[in-house]
Amino acid sequence: MKKIVAVNAGSSSFKFKIFDMPSEIIIASGQIEKIGHEDSVFTIVFNAKSIKKILPINNHKQAVELFFDALFENKIISNYNDIFGVGHRVAQGGIEFKKSELFDDYVKQKLIELTPLAPLHNPSNIIVYDAFKQVSNIPQVAVFDTAFHHTIKKEDYIYAIPYKYYKKYGIRRYGFHGTSHRYLSQRANDYLKKDSKIIICHLGSGSSIAAIKNGKSVATSMGFTPLVGVIMGTRSGDIDPSILTFLAEHEKTSTDKIIDILYKESGLLGISELSNDARDLQLAYEESHKKARLAIDLWARSIANYIGQYFIRLGGVDAIIFSGGIGENSPFYRKKVINLIKNSLQIEIDDTLNESCQKEKVISTPKSKVKIIVIPTDEELMIAKDTYQIVSKLIYNHND
Ligand code: ADP
Repeated sequence: MKKIVAVNAGSSSFKFKIFDMPSEIIIASGQIEKIGHEDSVFTIVFNAKSIKKILPINNHKQAVELFFDALFENKIISNYNDIFGVGHRVAQGGIEFKKSELFDDYVKQKLIELTPLAPLHNPSNIIVYDAFKQVSNIPQVAVFDTAFHHTIKKEDYIYAIPYKYYKKYGIRRYGFHGTSHRYLSQRANDYLKKDSKIIICHLGSGSSIAAIKNGKSVATSMGFTPLVGVIMGTRSGDIDPSILTFLAEHEKTSTDKIIDILYKESGLLGISELSNDARDLQLAYEESHKKARLAIDLWARSIANYIGQYFIRLGGVDAIIFSGGIGENSPFYRKKVINLIKNSLQIEIDDTLNESCQKEKVISTPKSKVKIIVIPTDEELMIAKDTYQIVSKLIYNHND
């Protein structure tokens, strides 16, 4: 029985989940938010108890110290070595990292070099890696969001801009949400024959669609950054890049500011001018709020378009998976997408199953030509599994 911590670091936050491995039982979970503020919030949940503290936390090192203090105080661990490994969700692994790796100073250096490709994400991983290293010598593992998509072929990842920019700067489609897509494609196998063709719709605040053949990613909707693909909570998804310079010129602002708008003020929020939260928008939709309706209709259309594209790319589809906060929780939003594709793909959905679905479930009828499966994603479990495997190998080899 080994304790593994899965960490998801943000610029001012870090979320954690502690697993007992290999049993996969969750021992504790929590988060530290508003790091760098006077009123940072530390929450830990364990043994059906929840503890919340509001206190100043200056930086990520202090956050990690506080995290360990809570583990000691609550007797979750009695010394640092009770933690077998710490696994980090890393957004951008570039072309170098095709699978999860032991997180050491070499990986740290590579992540520094990759920072121009992921300026919003990679620096937080580096800071939290350093913080854990300063506090303890627990082995750390990096689990890359891009790694699962390394099987995408060149004709699916090259952009039609001068080739020299691909060579010079690595401008290409990388794809993200890879840990989620990997988990979901493995779970989906339980319902399908070998060598299946799957389209995964990970629909949350950030959303991406992936085409999977024989367990491998063939195409995915996010690109050079997680800004593009389908319409998201606050991100625009695919738009004509000329809009960027047009808006910068006419709004008399910088292209950086416009990019910020495309990340934070666009998508469902931008169109509805109401909310980026899918639940709020559903309520407004039901009250015939015009822009909420337009936002949801466009959102569903953008997903249906990718499903159509990937149906062709895969040469058919055996199953479509719905996951992410919206995909796994909302019969309404699933139905919105399915209504746009059901005739072309001969999908028959069981409305009762769709409405009653709480966890993992097939919601299509046996007659449906394509299985529709709802599967809650679990990126943290995937991180814990990779970490457990890599650290076990490290220790086994050392003892050898
Ligand atoms: P993130 O990309 O931040 O991980 P999540 O996967 O947690 O996002 O998804 C957040 C989205 O899921 C929000 O838009 C939220 O409104 C939506 N959501 C969560 N539960 C429901 C629900 N029961 N019905 C509709 N939408 C939901």
